[in-house]
Amino acid sequence: MQWAGALRMQSVDSLLPGDLPRQFANRDEMAAILRQLFPEAPGGLSPMQGGRRAAEKALAGIDPAAYGRNRNHLGGAVTRLSPHIRHGVLSLVEVREAVFDWLERSKQPKAAAQKLISELGWRDYWQRLWRQLGDGIWRDQEPLKTGHSSASYAAELPADLLSAHTGLACMDGFASELILTGWLHNHARMWLAAYVVHWRRIQWQVGARWFLQHLLDGDPASNNLSWQWVASSFSSKPYVFNRENLERFSSGRFCRDCALAGAGCPFEASYEQLQADLFPGAGPC
Ligand SMILES: Cc1cc2nc3c(=O)[nH]c(=O)nc-3n(C[C@H](O)[C@H](O)[C@H](O)COP(=O)(O)OP(=O)(O)OC[C@H]3O[C@@H](n4cnc5c(N)ncnc54)[C@H](O)[C@@H]3O)c2cc1C
Repeated sequence: MQWAGALRMQSVDSLLPGDLPRQFANRDEMAAILRQLFPEAPGGLSPMQGGRRAAEKALAGIDPAAYGRNRNHLGGAVTRLSPHIRHGVLSLVEVREAVFDWLERSKQPKAAAQKLISELGWRDYWQRLWRQLGDGIWRDQEPLKTGHSSASYAAELPADLLSAHTGLACMDGFASELILTGWLHNHARMWLAAYVVHWRRIQWQVGARWFLQHLLDGDPASNNLSWQWVASSFSSKPYVFNRENLERFSSGRFCRDCALAGAGCPFEASYEQLQADLFPGAGPC
């Protein structure tokens, strides 16, 4: 077998029955073994690297002030710490302390770090809520405010979305990035989730499962409760966006070359028009 080489590189005795090899000559060798062991898994190895050294490097590079200014932009100074936090390589306290150290070093006012600290708070909050709700995080926390019954949402993801062939450059770009890298910017997650739930009318749970299958930071609490926030079963109104918003925060990189730009773009409308089209039976938002 191809992975026998990797097994030879470490003490076979150190492997428990059913255990996977853990030491490899290089990442390519690891990728080849994983491909062989999990042929059904789409995508390859994510370019994002794990481990304590990579986590410390990412933590040393945070810029809370820039984060506060431009975090909603796809090219903004987000930290990409989520996979490290999710897998316990970094604790939230450690990240918070790094932010406080940065404040001291940079001599910036405390407000400069407020946004980043508050996002760490969201992570903590979702975790606490999960402890209370248990598997309840898979159920609607409140009725939907979309005017549609939960039963009217589809129970499967359509093939065009799964294969990133919807024809919409933005959504296909996000779906590909999700599958190939296992990470998406928060704004891209919000846009993609809103497209799945509101434009394609698919159950949020189905989208949440899809994300959890691919995200390196996949976490049932942060993920499901964010999907519920988008869907409106854990917020006062459904989250929607329009083309102008997506174009602005992505520097137009998708809209420029989109085959459906113009009349074919389902996001090309005012917020009022979108609300009326997507949620005709909903009360005033
Ligand atoms: C539909 C949807 C699904 C999501 N699924 C997950 C998930 O499975 N796992 C996950 O960790 N996050 C999830 N998030 C939250 C957020 O998108 C990611 O935490 C963030 O994009 C990770 O990138 P970052 O490390 O650069 O975050 P930064 O913006 O740099 O924030 C720093 C850290 O704060 C925490 N954080 C930031 N934003 C949020 C948020 N909105 N909610 C909770 N914690 C936050 C994360 O731990 C993050 O690593 C989801 C958001 C949405 C809208």
